[in-house]
Amino acid sequence: TPDIRPLVAGNWKMNGTRASLDQIKAIAEGVKGELAAKVETLICPPATLLYVATALCDDSPLQIGAQDCHPKQSGAHTGDISAEMIADCFGTHVIVGHSERRTDHAENDALVRAKTEAAHAADLVAIVCIGETEEERKSGKTLDVLKRQLAESLPDAAGAANTVIAYEPVWAIGTGLTPTAADVEDAHAFMRRELAARFGSEGDKMRILYGGSVKPSNAKELMAVANVDGALIGGASLKAEDFLAIYRAY
Ligand code: PEP
Repeated sequence: TPDIRPLVAGNWKMNGTRASLDQIKAIAEGVKGELAAKVETLICPPATLLYVATALCDDSPLQIGAQDCHPKQSGAHTGDISAEMIADCFGTHVIVGHSERRTDHAENDALVRAKTEAAHAADLVAIVCIGETEEERKSGKTLDVLKRQLAESLPDAAGAANTVIAYEPVWAIGTGLTPTAADVEDAHAFMRRELAARFGSEGDKMRILYGGSVKPSNAKELMAVANVDGALIGGASLKAEDFLAIYRAY
């Protein structure tokens, strides 16, 4: 979208030990340079690496984020981490509502919305993931699902500065399958209209990322689609070389 600075974001999921910090170092180095003024970059490693990863990015435009947060600020929630804790580790973003969490942890739109509000309260950018399953697509419900997820996962206070949408068709995640450019264009145009109708000019400026089997070989085509304002990358973000190749597709 004209005037929107794209975001190329990596989601490491439950992958990465201290040895993987070499990849973060390589990405932090690789994004130094002119292109960084045009394209924002982010890696979301597992929470165990968050604090040390942000320290590695001191003199790099690479930002570090988390993959989930609890809706509450603190308290008796064993195993969870709060948005405030992520911000305290110098994280700048948090992914919420990823389809793997919606499935593995039965997260619904209301919870995703509460997590988005918690992210905003901690001054984090929330990357709100939405997307249809294969079954929903086959029965022609894709746009209905996107409409509902956008309406119910986003708080009224969402704006272009604190919220990024990631459209990730569930059947395209980790499968090597991607929708056609025409399908991506239709879905993103629909989401843009929905966002503009609810949030006005903020909705015009909100980034809408595409995610699902983005790799160096298809990045250029997908990123050139109208209303695609960057990518959320799973598997291909684990290797600095692949992440940087996608970044350089811009
Ligand atoms: C993701 O999980 O956000 C994702 C897009 O994964 P992959 O790129 O591996 O399909």
